[in-house]
Amino acid sequence: MYIRQMFSQKPCVCSIEVFPPKKESSLAGMHEALRRMAGLRPDFISVTCSAGGSGQAGVSTCRIARFIKNELGLEPLAHITCMGAGEQALRAQLDELFAAGIQNLLALRGDRFADAPPSAFAHASDLMRFIRAGYGSFGLSGACYPEGHVESASLAADIDALRQKQEAGASHLVTQLFFDNLYYYRFLNRARKAGVSLPVSAGVMPIVSARQIERTVKLSSASLPPAFTKMVSRWQDDEQGLFEAGIEYAVRQLRDLIEGGADGVHLYAMNNAEVARRVFEGIADLLGAPKEGVS
Ligand code: FAD
Repeated sequence: MYIRQMFSQKPCVCSIEVFPPKKESSLAGMHEALRRMAGLRPDFISVTCSAGGSGQAGVSTCRIARFIKNELGLEPLAHITCMGAGEQALRAQLDELFAAGIQNLLALRGDRFADAPPSAFAHASDLMRFIRAGYGSFGLSGACYPEGHVESASLAADIDALRQKQEAGASHLVTQLFFDNLYYYRFLNRARKAGVSLPVSAGVMPIVSARQIERTVKLSSASLPPAFTKMVSRWQDDEQGLFEAGIEYAVRQLRDLIEGGADGVHLYAMNNAEVARRVFEGIADLLGAPKEGVS
């Protein structure tokens, strides 16, 4: 099923993001985590790809996406990036994804990385046009940034780039993680006024460990509202306390987004099935029935 179709069937489409393991030996554990996540019945599961292309190191995005589709019977959204990739390498990845029966791609530029070889395309919208032209059956999603992309001169310029993604064939957007819903509401309002009409999945990452504070919060450019910094200050040295507080913060954020009319919510669960379970438990009562007229 195309992801865009899901948005006409449900008031809020609920998804989870995972990343492929770096080592083959971690694959069995990853499959087990995915089985547990599948039991939560998310509408789709997205699978990231490493900078420089899927399959460069570790288990490929395509393998995980195929497992989600064939073994779990869920819809995967496979990420694909063009930074440092030539047309031939991109065609090889697209051929593999097509042969695996993958229908939905999140087409990205990818982050810049040291010594990147020349890229066939400068922007995600160029990659989308390339996929449209040669592989028209894929449904395309794109990334968006409630606080603006770090390289953008302004939020307005970034929203203009989103219009280009829409014109290039994207039919759905997923946001970067954010901790303050005000940025999401402000972004959505401005994007809609600028003519971006695509359904948007709002991305939320529960911060449940001190390692995540170091790795994600400090490196991310997301604004930290007082309630979030208070939560971190209060619990950062108490492992179990931080886990509970992090789940509670994410659940509160998600409940507000769903009640605020978000088209979809996207959980950055960092491959942690227990985190996904706890969060889904906290929002299950809001995910509700299909839209009227849809069986
Ligand atoms: P673009 O849309 O190309 O935007 C990059 C910059 O260029 C922005 O500042 C934009 O405003 C500007 N721009 C875009 N189009 C134009 C244009 N036509 N003219 C002028 N300026 C333009 N990275 C990975 O490596 N692997 C992943 O799996 C991955 N998954 C992600 C999932 C989500 C939901 C998100 C939000 C990000 C993800 N990323 C991933 C990170 C992403 O690759 C980076 O944020 C990257 O820096 C930008 O990618 P993009 O597709 O948004 O690029």
